[in-house]
Amino acid sequence: MAVSKFAYVKSFEQPDSLLPNTYIVVRVDGHAFHRLSQDHQFIRPNDDRALQLMDHAAKDVMKEFTDIVMAFGESDEYSFLFRKTSTAHKRRHAKILSIVTSTFTSSYAFHWSKYLPNTPLQYPPTFDARVVLYPSAKEIRDYFSWRQSDTHVNNLYNTIFWALVQQAGETTSRAHEILKGTVSKQKNEMLYSRFGINYNDLPLRYRKGTTLVREKATSENTLDGREKPSSEVVVLHCDIIKDEFWDGRRHLLE
Ligand code: ATP
Ligand code: ATP
Ligand code: MG
Ligand code: MG
Ligand code: MG
Ligand code: MG
Ligand code: MG
Repeated sequence: MAVSKFAYVKSFEQPDSLLPNTYIVVRVDGHAFHRLSQDHQFIRPNDDRALQLMDHAAKDVMKEFTDIVMAFGESDEYSFLFRKTSTAHKRRHAKILSIVTSTFTSSYAFHWSKYLPNTPLQYPPTFDARVVLYPSAKEIRDYFSWRQSDTHVNNLYNTIFWALVQQAGETTSRAHEILKGTVSKQKNEMLYSRFGINYNDLPLRYRKGTTLVREKATSENTLDGREKPSSEVVVLHCDIIKDEFWDGRRHLLE
C-alpha cells in the first residue's frame, strides 16, 4: 500500500530544537516519592540506599549522554548540565527530555533490588522532568547554588524533625508545630542541646548532596599504543556554591 496518502500527518510534528549555544539543564524529580518512600520504608531522614540508587541512575544517564559534564542530586531529584555547545539529538527538546527521563527511570527500577534487596518494588516508580536553558555561566553557578542551598535547608529541617519524632517521641504534627517559625540558628541549637547532634558532623552526602563531574578528557594509551580519549565521572560530596569547586574545573562552563 502506498504510504504517501497518509504520510502528510508527519508534517504536523513541530520542530522543537533548543536555542543554540545555551546551557541545557534537565532536572528529574521523583513523582509522589513522599508516598513511594513511605510505602517502601525508607530510613528517615536520609536513606543511603535510596540516595545511592539515585546516583547509579544518574551515572547511567551520563553514560548515555557524554555531553553532560556535571550532575547534582539530592533527595528524589537530579539535575544534569549539558555543555553549551552540545548538539546531542540535534538539540531536540522532546528527544533530550524523554531519553534522559526514561534512562533515569528505567535504571532506577532496574537496579532497585541491588540497593534495597529486602524491599520488593510494589509498583513502577516514575519521575517528572523539565528542561531549562540558561544563557550564561553566572546562572549555572546560581542554579547549582540554589539546589545545594535547598539540600541544606531540607536536611537541617528533616534532621531535627525526625530527631523530635524518633528520639523525643513527638507526633509528626507536634514536631511540625515545634519547628514552625524557627530559623536555622535555633534549629542548630535545638539539635545540639536536646539531642547532642552537631549538625556539621553529619555525613557530607546528606549536607551537600551528590555532585557528579566529568573530569576533563585526557588521552590515555591503549595496549596497542593508540591514543584514545577518555573521561571519567567522579563522585563528590562537596561545596559547589563557593568559587573553589569551579575554579579548578573551568571546562565545566566552557
Ligand atoms: P512531587 O511528585 O511533587 O515531586 P513528592 O512526594 O515526590 O512530590 P518531593 O518534594 O519531591 O515530593 O519530596 C520527595 C520526598 O521523598 C521527600 O520529602 C522525602 O520524604 C522522600 N525521600 C526521597 N528520597 C529519600 C531518601 N533517600 N531518604 C528518605 N526520604 C526520601
Ligand atoms: P530512535 O532512537 O531515533 O527512535 P530507533 O533505532 O529506535 O531510533 P525507530 O524509527 O524508532 O528507530 O524504529 C524502531 C525500529 O525497531 C524499527 O524500525 C524496527 O526495525 C525495530 N522494531 C521495533 N519493534 C519491533 C518489533 N516488534 N519487531 C521487529 N522489529 C521491531
Ligand atoms: Mg516534582
Ligand atoms: Mg518528588
Ligand atoms: Mg523532590
Ligand atoms: Mg525508536
Ligand atoms: Mg520507532
